[in-house]
Amino acid sequence: MMIMKIAGHVLRRRHRTWGSIRLVHQRLLASFDFDHTILNGDCYETIESFLDPRYNRDELHSLKAQFGWMTYIECLLGILQEQGVRVEEITESVRKLRTMPGMECLLRRLEKRPETDLCIISDANSYFIRQCLEANDLSDIFPPSRIFTNTANVLENGKLQLAPYEEQSHCDRCPANLCKGGIMSALMQCDQPQQSYDRIVYCGDGCNDLCPMLQLRPQDFACIRHGEELHDRLSVHGGEIQAHVLIWRDGDDLQQQLEKAGCFESTFTSTSSSSLSTSSSSSLL
Ligand SMILES: [Mg+2]
Ligand SMILES: [Zn+2]
Repeated sequence: MMIMKIAGHVLRRRHRTWGSIRLVHQRLLASFDFDHTILNGDCYETIESFLDPRYNRDELHSLKAQFGWMTYIECLLGILQEQGVRVEEITESVRKLRTMPGMECLLRRLEKRPETDLCIISDANSYFIRQCLEANDLSDIFPPSRIFTNTANVLENGKLQLAPYEEQSHCDRCPANLCKGGIMSALMQCDQPQQSYDRIVYCGDGCNDLCPMLQLRPQDFACIRHGEELHDRLSVHGGEIQAHVLIWRDGDDLQQQLEKAGCFESTFTSTSSSSLSTSSSSSLL
């Protein structure tokens, strides 16, 4: 393992050696919200379309503000079951959702980048996320251990049962069932220095994506989707984010901006001199 100082940070890098040249990879964590970020849509908005048109949606939506997402979702699923909507129909509608344009290409590129971990941090649920990933051929990129979300399973009676990711009271910004910032903070803390991340990218669209973005460091990237909830609130919260802020419109745009910011790069370092110095950098992909 090699240790080098860049911009005041001690970075521990993994490397491969060819003659006198070492190819050094920066460790990158690429983390994503799911609905309206990886997905070009929202699982719960989709299943709301099954509601009887006579049902008062305003009343249902007021549950989100009053009691949080879990209460809203449990209530929505309960109503749909009373209406006789089968879990197979719900599953089919969720599986029809497609990823954001350019997002699959970005995820595949990140997957191929050396020393890169990918994860999803979402207030949706494990069943819907698994179904969407499967239908979009992306399950291999996000194994269950890399998806941090509420648990959901289909029971033998055909009911979809939800369980909160956690029951937290440490964060006022986030609902009791899930603090995305707490998950980010746990991912950043690492006992083994060689396993710590040199850079972290977090991509999201909603106000519940602010908490993980507030955990990020100046060398990290908070990627906020243009025109969505969090972007609209940026004038209020933007100053609190220490990381670089990137505003993106779709997966292609996000990929271009991350490339420009050097997130796909590795660094070539000469070993011929006793003092280790960065000689050049190059994109691997
Ligand atoms: Mg979202
Ligand atoms: Zn939080």
